[in-house]
Amino acid sequence: MDEWPQILRGSLRTPDEIAAHFGLNKDEIRKVARAFKTQITPYYAGLIKHKGDPLYRQVVPDAAELERNTGLADPLNEDEDSPVPSVIHRYPDRLLFLVSHCCASYCRFCTRKRKVGDPSKIHPRYIEDGLDYIRSHPEIRDVIVSGGDPLMLSDARLEYILKELRAVPHLEILRIGTRVPCFLPQRVTPKLAAMLKIYHPLYVNVHFNHPDEITPEAAKALGLLADAGIPLGNQTVLLKGVNDDPAVMRRLMQKLLFVRVRPYYIYQADYVQGTDHLRTTVEKGLEIMDALRGWTSGLAVPYYVIDAPGGGGKIPVLPKYVQTINDEQVVMRNYAGEIYAYPQTQSGQKKRSRKEKQPFVTPCYGVTNAPPIG
Ligand SMILES: *Cc1c(COP(=O)(O)O)cnc(C)c1O
Ligand code: SF4
Repeated sequence: MDEWPQILRGSLRTPDEIAAHFGLNKDEIRKVARAFKTQITPYYAGLIKHKGDPLYRQVVPDAAELERNTGLADPLNEDEDSPVPSVIHRYPDRLLFLVSHCCASYCRFCTRKRKVGDPSKIHPRYIEDGLDYIRSHPEIRDVIVSGGDPLMLSDARLEYILKELRAVPHLEILRIGTRVPCFLPQRVTPKLAAMLKIYHPLYVNVHFNHPDEITPEAAKALGLLADAGIPLGNQTVLLKGVNDDPAVMRRLMQKLLFVRVRPYYIYQADYVQGTDHLRTTVEKGLEIMDALRGWTSGLAVPYYVIDAPGGGGKIPVLPKYVQTINDEQVVMRNYAGEIYAYPQTQSGQKKRSRKEKQPFVTPCYGVTNAPPIG
């Protein structure tokens, strides 16, 4: 018998349960829960050390979520790129396939909270439409199975979806995006790992935001997936009071590598309604990237991206390493802020027009001396 269904059933679910557990105002939490579903697994609640700590801030509802002055319901205009309700098709060769409206716990900053937790928006009956869409679009070679959290489906239901996808001749890779290894690592059983490995090449992207989330239980879950030959990547959301600190973020990235997960993206928090209290400045993200590159393993350095409001997709943002670039040389600064020049090749240099000589490096952030972190 798997232990995880029982763990899941023991979640703090209703506003009253959550308010009582954390000593909060019942009416306030009820109001917030009407805007976005609440749930915290007992496992994750047990990792919270005190009110307002980095794990608490991610999952415990806050009255600030009712703030409607900033943010958008659908900041990435996903609904416009949604040919059928279960598909978000934005890029040329890959798409998101929403297969579950449930999550093990609900992140208060969720970008898709207009849909997540609501079975009328992400419904099993839309899955067949999504499969048909994928089958009839030969340009799609990569499907990201998402939601909600796909690992909240039963093994059998998830296997049905993976099997149908694998039967599509033009699909090369499958990906699963899940926060289950963070919120409910017990869900990752040897049986699940054995099922998943049938559908290779399969990649799993997990979602950890703080080093305290990398527990022995999480390490075990990730180990099962890695042992099944599944390359693991991680997506982190940069959040105020959670991981907006270079030392915390560096530790998180290092701990991820230690449990065989390659950091993939750090997301600037999306412009989602009711999440302003969790957003940071973009400068903070650049400061963090500056404190990663060079200061620790290159493998621990993900891309920092802003998912462009309006639906432009993920745009990488880098500290400004290239200072000037011309026909003779490229002047750069290294991670420690020292300046170096790289001579350009002189062979075959054709005369370029003045316009072309304009530096094509967009000035983004003028850090000259990266802060070493202790
Ligand atoms: C993030 C995302 C993808 C996947 O992007 P990659 O950069 O390939 O990981 C695909 N579709 C949508 C709509 C996305 O938001
Ligand atoms: S696990 Fe993902 S989909 Fe679910 S609430 Fe968190 S961010 Fe949203």
